Amino acid sequence: MCARCGTRAEGPQPTWTFSLENGTPRHYCERCSRDNLRAIEGRLDAQWW
Ligand SMILES: [Zn+2]
Repeated sequence: MCARCGTRAEGPQPTWTFSLENGTPRHYCERCSRDNLRAIEGRLDAQWW
């Protein structure tokens, strides 16, 4: 289930993005992945730095 728009997936979705945010696993559908790509990468960078 997409953490942003709530789209449900029937089975594994290889095109979806998996993001671990503060220890909480989240999945984003392909559309939301594009919209959130920079935000997700920004969070990862912030954590790494
Ligand atoms: Zn979505």
